[in-house]
Amino acid sequence: MIERAYLREVGLRDGLQLVRGDLSTAHKLEWIREEAAAGVHEIEVTSFVPFKSFPIFADAVEVATTALAIPGLLASGLTPNARGALTAFDTGLTKVNYVISASEAHSQANVRRSTAQAMDDFARIVEARAERGLEKTVTLSFGIATCFGCTIQGEVPEDLVYRIAERGVELGADEVMIADTVGYANPLQVERIFAGVLSRLGNVPVAAHFHDTRGLGLANIAAAARVGVRRFDASLGGLGGCPHAPGATGNVVFEDAAFLLETMGLSTGIDIPKLIALRRKVEIWLPEERFSGAIHRAGVPKTFHAAA
Ligand code: ZN
Repeated sequence: MIERAYLREVGLRDGLQLVRGDLSTAHKLEWIREEAAAGVHEIEVTSFVPFKSFPIFADAVEVATTALAIPGLLASGLTPNARGALTAFDTGLTKVNYVISASEAHSQANVRRSTAQAMDDFARIVEARAERGLEKTVTLSFGIATCFGCTIQGEVPEDLVYRIAERGVELGADEVMIADTVGYANPLQVERIFAGVLSRLGNVPVAAHFHDTRGLGLANIAAAARVGVRRFDASLGGLGGCPHAPGATGNVVFEDAAFLLETMGLSTGIDIPKLIALRRKVEIWLPEERFSGAIHRAGVPKTFHAAA
């Protein structure tokens, strides 16, 4: 039996929130359509943040509703709070992603709320989903940022990460995403923390979100895959920087991550050459951004066989 792994594109959210230029709605939709056609299972298509602060997401509703009509694609959207979740529910999205910070200092800096207040907000989102009768149709992903350390407060206790993950599931999370928001994680820490989370959460799916800020993104994906994680975030061309490390590389490079997982015998269903062709377009659309990665330059090896 072939084992599946699921790669989620986060470039249209995590990536775009830091770009200097703009990306038109038409280009966003072309990106989403072509990536879906290349076999990408889930795309986080937008963010329901206040668009006065993030004008690049002013088209969130249009992008979400259009993406919903693409066959075979799971389109999801990020919300930083309960208000954004309501907008996301209104669009008809069947997956809504919420993120809380394990680091108190990061939570205050990012959303001006304590971690406990952000947890209360998640409870309100779960309630709002129930009030609208959407429990069976809308999946709620509960992400935890800064699980491997924080640029502001430094160490983040592992026990705290476990407690937050368990609380999220108690409240109603359908998926838990463990994030290395600032690119501090290393493979040994990844194996330990993901093994800890997986053993505590039973059958709840656990996803991994790494940044390649210090060059360990792919190594961390391999480490998480080895302990049983099968859901991973990445962005095409590694789009997205790090707000705390100017000039640093961004998310893990999507096409390289697909290659890695396939070589580990985990089938992603993704057509890597199609992704490389799309990447070249996105690079042209965002001329001020720095993209990274290796597979787009070298191509897949002659000896490469997709897992499936
Ligand atoms: Zn991120």
